[in-house]
Amino acid sequence: MADDIDDLLDEVETKYCSRDKQKNRKLNRNRKSTDDDLDDILNDITVDPDFKPVKSSEIKSSNRTVPRPESARKCFPLYLGGSASSLGIANSLTPRSCDKMRCTSCDFKIAIFDNFEWDATTDYLFLRNNCPDFQRLKSKLRSKKGCRAYCCQCSHRSNTTLEKLTDPNLKWVCGKH
Ligand SMILES: [Zn+2]
Ligand SMILES: [Zn+2]
Repeated sequence: MADDIDDLLDEVETKYCSRDKQKNRKLNRNRKSTDDDLDDILNDITVDPDFKPVKSSEIKSSNRTVPRPESARKCFPLYLGGSASSLGIANSLTPRSCDKMRCTSCDFKIAIFDNFEWDATTDYLFLRNNCPDFQRLKSKLRSKKGCRAYCCQCSHRSNTTLEKLTDPNLKWVCGKH
């Protein structure tokens, strides 16, 4: 009888111990796979070594290429001047004699001749036949210091001082700078 019990105990011991060993092995395998998953996750969130943040100086330089609005390149108001007044783009703070004028009536660029004034006999037909060639126009240009002579193919004007263009007969506009 005692032998039988011993046998039984042995059997139980062997069974349970081996089952525990199996259990432990299973747990170890589970832990290992969890570690692997963690490694995968860590690899996924590792920062790409080629990635470079955009420098603030690069952003600034790209902003510099943005074109200025149309209105910034046009004279407003539009000025005519004598030969002493500087040429260029004008606004109310820096009045200048516009050198990029265009006539909306004949669609010609305005020609400028410094230290000349138009003869009183200058007319539409003369300008149409001769503008903008100075050699052909000079027969009606009189030398006058300080004066600036303007013309297109349909209109003419002589100015000695800087003033806003208010003459409604002149269809001249700033043609952008
Ligand atoms: Zn202008
Ligand atoms: Zn004209």
